Amino acid sequence: MTGLAILGSTGSIGRQTLEVVTALDDRFAVVALASGHASTALEEQLAEYPGAVAWCPDGPPSGLSTERWAPGGLVELATLDGVELVVVATTGMAALPAVIAALESGRRVALANKETLVTGGHLVAAALAARGGDPLEVLRPVDSEHSAIWQCLVGERLDTVRRLVLTASGGPFRGRGAQALGGVTPEEALSHPTWRMGPKITVDSATLVNKAFEVIEARWLYRLPYSKIDAVIHPQSVVHSLVEFADGSYKAQLGLPDMKLPIQYALTHPERLASPARHGDPVDWGRLEFEALAPGEYPSYDTVRAAAELGGNRGTVVNAADESAVAAFLEGRIGFDRISDVIDEAVARWGTDEEPGLDAIVGLDAEVRDVLDRELGAAGRR
Ligand code: MG
Repeated sequence: MTGLAILGSTGSIGRQTLEVVTALDDRFAVVALASGHASTALEEQLAEYPGAVAWCPDGPPSGLSTERWAPGGLVELATLDGVELVVVATTGMAALPAVIAALESGRRVALANKETLVTGGHLVAAALAARGGDPLEVLRPVDSEHSAIWQCLVGERLDTVRRLVLTASGGPFRGRGAQALGGVTPEEALSHPTWRMGPKITVDSATLVNKAFEVIEARWLYRLPYSKIDAVIHPQSVVHSLVEFADGSYKAQLGLPDMKLPIQYALTHPERLASPARHGDPVDWGRLEFEALAPGEYPSYDTVRAAAELGGNRGTVVNAADESAVAAFLEGRIGFDRISDVIDEAVARWGTDEEPGLDAIVGLDAEVRDVLDRELGAAGRR
């Protein structure tokens, strides 16, 4: 049995991970669980996995024995005795130190969280390089696009890759043009056409900041330059991403949108096993369309991608600025069309070429969000 730590166990990915683990019977043992807040869901999980040690920022649930509580938080859970694979399904950049600690202490990581690589990709890359071996064996993507690329690359050499093509649904405002989006409401932005997710990532999918973050993830996961990473609009979300090779061949991974598939692949790679994920028939998929992601159509995508290509500390800046901007939009303090400006202005203000260490990332993240939350009119936040 492989010992698992699941960080973010009560969120959507965490819960689906437990579903996959249950369906796989005796392959995995749940050794550690962490949740972003106290809840009956966490208490139920702790009752279902009586061997699991836990942590959440609100403190231990009443009645939990002290042996089952990890006061050292995510880092302690990720490096507990018996943990071999750490599933990172937390929100924000909270898990970055735990990911580094897990990699440095010989654990594998299944990564569902984007902020880890957006803010600390250079630190993760250094930890992987120090460890040697196949980096994808150690750091396994759970994001559906990156799982698709990983599956396409099995048996291939990276130096034969001409480019990676990430697919994007285009979100609820596809085809409306950036200029027309000043007055869209949070409710409109929260109705994603194909995936059910939390509010932050759903807005990120409407601005395509999510896709720009995935470009950054791809850069670190596959160690390719940004010039070899593209994105294309594919409204049906059936083709999860493509790889173009030197000879002109494309490989793609297809399937109905269901996160249980990439979650399971990250747990069982290189094995493919029966899965509780939805199975689809190509006859029912209808037309599969691809459209160029035109410059200017999604200004936030352009802004984040350009900042990422400049490198330095800008991953942390765009991540923090986007968090403040999305919160301001969801609370009605700024318009949808202001999100890209907020990010752009933050990059101009805080961006430098120096790659920050862990403490500098945490400090910069707090500073950018504090200042922007205040300037964007957040009342009594943080
Ligand atoms: Mg994705």
